[in-house]
Amino acid sequence: MSLSLDSKIQELGGVAKGLANKLKKINIETVKDLIFYYPFRYEDYSVLSKISELQPETQAVVIGKIELIGNRRSFKSRKLMTEAMLTDNSGSVKVMWFNQPWLVKNIKIGQTVKLWGKVSGDYFSPILMSPDYQIIYNDSEATMGIMPVYNLTAGLTVRQLRLLIKKALEAGIPVEDILPIDYPEARALMPLAEALKQIHFPATAELLAQARRRLAFEEVFLLQVYSGFIRRNLKTQTAPPIVFKETELKKFIASLPFAMTLDQKRSAWEVIKDLQKNIPMNRLLQGDVGSGKTLVALLAMFNCFLNGCQSVIMAPTEILAVQHYRNFQRLIGEQSDLALITRSNLLWNGESKNKKELAGLLKDGRPVIVVGTHALIQDSIAFGNLGLVIVDEQHRFGVKQRSRLKESNLSGLSPHFLSLTATPIPRSLALAVYGDLDISLIKTMPAGRKAIISRAVEDVNRQKAYDFIRQQINSGRQAFVICPLIDPSDKFGFKSAVEEKQKLDQEIFPEFTVGLLHGRLKPAEKEAVMAEFKQGGIQILVSTSVVEVGVDIPNATVMMIEGSERFGLAQLHQFRGRVGRGEHQAYCFFFAENADGKIISKLKFLADCADGFRLAEYDLQHRGAGAIWGENQSGWIDNLRIADLNDTALIKSAQAAAEYFWSRADNLEIIKFKNKINHLGFIEHLE
Ligand code: ADP
Ligand code: MG
Repeated sequence: MSLSLDSKIQELGGVAKGLANKLKKINIETVKDLIFYYPFRYEDYSVLSKISELQPETQAVVIGKIELIGNRRSFKSRKLMTEAMLTDNSGSVKVMWFNQPWLVKNIKIGQTVKLWGKVSGDYFSPILMSPDYQIIYNDSEATMGIMPVYNLTAGLTVRQLRLLIKKALEAGIPVEDILPIDYPEARALMPLAEALKQIHFPATAELLAQARRRLAFEEVFLLQVYSGFIRRNLKTQTAPPIVFKETELKKFIASLPFAMTLDQKRSAWEVIKDLQKNIPMNRLLQGDVGSGKTLVALLAMFNCFLNGCQSVIMAPTEILAVQHYRNFQRLIGEQSDLALITRSNLLWNGESKNKKELAGLLKDGRPVIVVGTHALIQDSIAFGNLGLVIVDEQHRFGVKQRSRLKESNLSGLSPHFLSLTATPIPRSLALAVYGDLDISLIKTMPAGRKAIISRAVEDVNRQKAYDFIRQQINSGRQAFVICPLIDPSDKFGFKSAVEEKQKLDQEIFPEFTVGLLHGRLKPAEKEAVMAEFKQGGIQILVSTSVVEVGVDIPNATVMMIEGSERFGLAQLHQFRGRVGRGEHQAYCFFFAENADGKIISKLKFLADCADGFRLAEYDLQHRGAGAIWGENQSGWIDNLRIADLNDTALIKSAQAAAEYFWSRADNLEIIKFKNKINHLGFIEHLE
């Protein structure tokens, strides 16, 4: 039977059940998973060390002869150890491995081996600790220089993984190269099969660079083709044109308790212009926390109402939905009909309704501004006349909900779509990943905001920070404490929310009520905690990163963040945005667990910079795109595993190739790509 990319790795031979289970932990089940399991970095082992010159606390690579090797149990910890003695012509060094007793079967006395890894011990008797190894049979193997580093799991060695990858690559399995070959830029790139070989077994640094370029190009290219699908698809749909009701909108704007910022006006105008067309708007409104995106959303919705159309804004939680509804009531309750739809609230113009009544009104197409949560996309709710869907703070996830809402629109038209986000995305990144969306930006904050006083705090000053929090709470304010983990973990040693809550509650602030919020709580429990915090029943809220974007607790004035080095700057900035929303001066303290010079200078940069876009650019340059969204929201960006989104030249040429693709592709080609993209699991499934 011949192997294909979809063959199980067991079919490669030599894969025992234990190994298969370990590989499954890192999501490798098929040959394809294996071949596309890229190293996350490389180490250059072309420079050999002499054994006599090994220094403790460094990384080194040595070649020598095995003089002795054997297993024993450590006296104290009873751990199983393998010990060996390695000699070259400069001297000898002790080598130790833990819990790998089988090594004595693989490495034999008298063999020449190459070992690379960490040097421990002290200056007089260095020890090579748990090095990786390669048995050298001929000279060419000894000079192999660039070694890939993979994410592994317990008990899986880089050697096992490399052996399997080698087998897979040498099995001659056809891998389809999908780049349009007649595109000049693509023609100059390394063929896919060669790139895959080089990415795992680089022959030279130059060939590795070419391989990476090839794979990165394809990633960005596919993303661009995907955007093209969405744009083309939208053009075939019909949306209700919403005319600009200039007089009424101007009157409403004049009635606001404040003046709109220039950016708010510009964004609102971009939205209004899109709404007038009969193809659906597909727009992203980006603006830092507190920049006033909701007002732009409300103007668009009011304009719909004046056109006799329904519109909805969907918030991620009940609390945010209720917050928007109250806000809208205050600002526009006299001039527009308003509805609220959540699990526990069904209101029409402030009056409680039962579900049937409310569903009836919506189905009849009564013009109204609807605020809601996911409760909006239940089967029992259909809209007679939906013109606009707005999704607040849900990143790309909005796309799915939009399709659901579109289906529930009985008029048969496709509603316009607007997504609001506080995540600042640098321009290069936005171009690459939001190619299907038009973007409006709010860069300036409303006038008169008090700047949040931010400090990177060293651990010796922890008590002072607690004293300060006590003082704030005694004068009636509230505080957040953010921790990187839910539960205590030996592995990382970072502060956990569960532990911190205990400590603050019992030892540091016994006189106050301390609450706890994290991702394992059920949605209803989370909302109950947030509601209590909002009402002042909780004075200090210890939370993981789940604390929502957009929640308004004007009385909270202190944000204290533990283990700041675990978060990207853009994310830390989002946490900071949870305070400073009221009349009182607000403060933000950044603590770090392992505060080396680099981390301190990063936190100082953050303390001095209040511009979310600049911080996101810093993240993008230093940590890659995933850092901007944080761990749980970066799902779709996993398709970009090699592409460096700072590489504008790469993005531009991949864009050009995608345009070329769209100018030439026939139906067959298009179907092929559709399948490929659906297979990769982009956010929206292409029909
Ligand atoms: P975000 O962009 O984070 O969603 P919001 O829309 O919630 O921000 O606005 C934050 C606060 O600023 C709200 O209380 C809102 O009423 C107020 N606001 C909005 N625009 C302005 C403005 N131009 N001047 C002053 N305050 C404003
Ligand atoms: Mg908001």
